[in-house]
Amino acid sequence: MTEQLHMASFEGTYTRQFLAMVEAVHPGIVELDRTAFYPFGGGQPADQGKLQWEGGTARVEDVRKRNRLRHMVAGDLPEVGATVEGSIDWDRRYAHMKMHTSQHLVSAVVDQLHGARTVGNQLYADKARIDFQPLRLSPAQLSEVEAEANRHLAKDLPITITEADRSELEQDPLVRSNLSLLPPSIRQLRVISIGNLDICPCAGTHVRSLGEIGEIEFTKRDNKGSGKQRLTYALRDPTP
Ligand SMILES: [Zn+2]
Repeated sequence: MTEQLHMASFEGTYTRQFLAMVEAVHPGIVELDRTAFYPFGGGQPADQGKLQWEGGTARVEDVRKRNRLRHMVAGDLPEVGATVEGSIDWDRRYAHMKMHTSQHLVSAVVDQLHGARTVGNQLYADKARIDFQPLRLSPAQLSEVEAEANRHLAKDLPITITEADRSELEQDPLVRSNLSLLPPSIRQLRVISIGNLDICPCAGTHVRSLGEIGEIEFTKRDNKGSGKQRLTYALRDPTP
C-alpha cells in the first residue's frame, strides 16, 4: 500500500518534493512506498512531475490508483529498493487545489440558495465545471450565486481535514453528498470542511484557506436534460 502524503494533513498536501522507496517496477510503471503525487479521480486530474535517483530520471506523466497506486513514467526505470526523489509540477497541482476547493464552495452555495445537488464535476487548471440537478438559474440568479461565493472567499474561511464516522455524517445537514452511493463497508471517511459552511467527504487536494483562491467568475451556463444545469467558472487571482 502506498502512503498518500496529501491525505492526512495540509503539510502533506503542500509537499512538492519527497523521498520514497521503490516497491515495484513494471515497463513504464513505478510503485512507491509513499507519494505526494495525486492519482486521477474525483473529477481532479492526476499530478505530473518527475522522479530522480542516483543514475536515472523519469518523467511522471500520469498517476492511477485502483488496487495499487501506479506512477506512469517515461524515461529510465529505477531498481526495486532504490530511494527516489519525487517532484510535483507545482503550478499545475496548486491550480487544481484552488479549483477543487472552490468547487466545494460553489456546490455549497448553490445548494443553500437553490436546493440543487452536485451530480458531477470536472476540474482543470484554468476552469471547472459542475453539474447540478435540478437547476435552472437565470443570468441574474447566477450573478447572485457568484456574489455569494465571492463574499465567502473574501472572508478567508479556514479549511480542515478530519476523519468522521459515516453514521455521524448521515445526520449532518452540512453534508450535501449522497453517502448511500458509497460501499457499505466504508465506515470512516476523510472529510473536508469549509468554516461552518460545508462538510464534504472527499479524497482530493484542497487549499488551507479560502483566501488563497481569489474570486470566481462564471463563464458559461448550459441547460442539459432531466433538469440538469452545468455551470463553468474560472478563477481570478486574489487582489493584493
Ligand atoms: Zn474535494
